[in-house]
Amino acid sequence: MRFSQYYIPTLKEAPADAEVVSHKLLVRAGMIRKLTSGIYTYLPLGVRALERVSRIVREEMNKAGALEIFMPTVQPSDLWEESGRWQKYGKELLRFKDRNDRDYCLGPTHEEVVTSLLRGEIRSYRQMPINVYQIQTKFRDEIRPRFGLMRGREFIMKDAYSFDRDNAGADKSYEIMYRAYENIFRRMGLKFRAVEADSGAIGGNFSHEFMVLADTGEDVIAVATDGTYAANLERAEATYSGPEAPLSETAYEEVSTPDCPTVEAVCKLLNVPAAQIVKTMLYNADGEIVAALVRGDREVNEIKLKNLVGAVELNLVTAEEIAGVSAGNIGSIGPVGLNVRIFADLELLGGNDWIVGANKPDAHLIHVDFKRDAKIEAYKDLRQVQEGDPCPRGGGKLTLTRGIEVGHVFKLGLKYSEAMNAKFLDENGKEQFMVMGSYGIGISRVVAAAIEQNHDEFGIKFPPPLAPFQVSLLNLDIRSEKAVAKADEIYEFLESEGLETLYDDRDERPGVKFKDADLLGSPIQLVVGGKGLDRGIIEAKDRRTNEKFELSLENFKENFKKWQADVWAGWGL
Ligand code: ATP
Ligand code: MG
Repeated sequence: MRFSQYYIPTLKEAPADAEVVSHKLLVRAGMIRKLTSGIYTYLPLGVRALERVSRIVREEMNKAGALEIFMPTVQPSDLWEESGRWQKYGKELLRFKDRNDRDYCLGPTHEEVVTSLLRGEIRSYRQMPINVYQIQTKFRDEIRPRFGLMRGREFIMKDAYSFDRDNAGADKSYEIMYRAYENIFRRMGLKFRAVEADSGAIGGNFSHEFMVLADTGEDVIAVATDGTYAANLERAEATYSGPEAPLSETAYEEVSTPDCPTVEAVCKLLNVPAAQIVKTMLYNADGEIVAALVRGDREVNEIKLKNLVGAVELNLVTAEEIAGVSAGNIGSIGPVGLNVRIFADLELLGGNDWIVGANKPDAHLIHVDFKRDAKIEAYKDLRQVQEGDPCPRGGGKLTLTRGIEVGHVFKLGLKYSEAMNAKFLDENGKEQFMVMGSYGIGISRVVAAAIEQNHDEFGIKFPPPLAPFQVSLLNLDIRSEKAVAKADEIYEFLESEGLETLYDDRDERPGVKFKDADLLGSPIQLVVGGKGLDRGIIEAKDRRTNEKFELSLENFKENFKKWQADVWAGWGL
């Protein structure tokens, strides 16, 4: 592609509302333009990047036996009433009415539509397994659509749905998609990790998120130093393998703790470490008030608590709700005499001398032994893991890093097929519910995540498989016939090699061309200039490392191919 005939409106400045680097660079590189909050137009270069991502995803989906379909964006409310999500989905679901006053929504995901489709198509166990997928626009009215393509309101997703006759089949379908996802992200040249994610009611090891590793990621993931385990922070298991404490012989007593709304303040006043204090966190779980106890230096993992009590909704209590169960104020609620179900974190088994709120204002109890002084319903893993915690599988320790969720594989089980009555006849002629799985990839988010992971102060560093153009070819001397002839020749050679090339033939200063090439992030830059030609060389730059090389024009094709292989190898390709 000749730059002079293309449209790449690069900008010196990023828009004021761009907070993350991918958003800034996507706009500056002339790839996207904002229409309104969380909604973007893709310019030609942006479309190319989307196509790169889609192509790899499509190839691997097809290879894995998934069948491409295309479902509507507009979905009628009845399907969502059937699944029960019309009420539950919340404000991310954009609802509207048609001229006949019927309710619709813009699809944030397609479980309802695909279940309704296949319950009408599949009669017999012989028609399964089947996996259908699409690459399509989704709409989610996100609260904070502030990160460009990372969290849009309108965005592009690949979503696949598998239907199986039994659990074993569904597990196999899950495994196939998991492998396909590994292939996809490996082929893209991204540094990624599959992590265990919360699978809610399904339980088991049947939800994994694929994370692109980047310091700027919104998600925190726990990775074991020995490589045996990786999980989303929401899910990461905290173990306790120490001994159980014996019953204490010291009776508890009350101490006055005025002006101590925080663990920190109590520590200071009583001169004790936070690890000796136990926080009593109260939650409203589907209308029932429950308490969770964790050490003062830990945080409750609300997802774990929610799964433990089997709640659909779990929220921290309001001041009014506190008043209903405890006479204490914030900071002085405690488990002794508390008349709600109390769940304690596993590691609290190891102590018998805790400091807790006294359920009256400005007072705490010391020397509390829960086994003796409180009614604990169960000791369970309830806390968030922390850096340095032991790995729950192997022998290593957990480290916390950041990532961007680009994909999610999920076993749905019977959730939708039961709610929406999606049945088939098994080999005995008996009706059974289909066992489902769903598998998403944020196509547009992948483009942003690739940039979050790979950039420098000058611009984007696209991994070769995702780059809109693999090569930026710069002709610095467009008025020299010799340079033009050479650049044309190299351009043709590159294209014949299957390398998509952006040929900068514009009448611009070299500085402008260099700056744009760095900003746009093609992995390879080749520079044709009069001076180099006189010396018999072409200048080449590996954009990943910014290292420069001189490729001799003698045997240029071989020289180039060898060097290109090195550049690709640097990307792990
Ligand atoms: P998140 O926790 O980031 O909101 P999610 O759990 O809601 O993601 P899924 O419902 O699993 O996401 O959707 C599948 C994939 O779609 C995600 O892995 C992600 O890559 C992408 N995705 C989800 N929401 C957005 C969004 N607002 N903008 C861009 N991509 C998104
Ligand atoms: Mg979301």
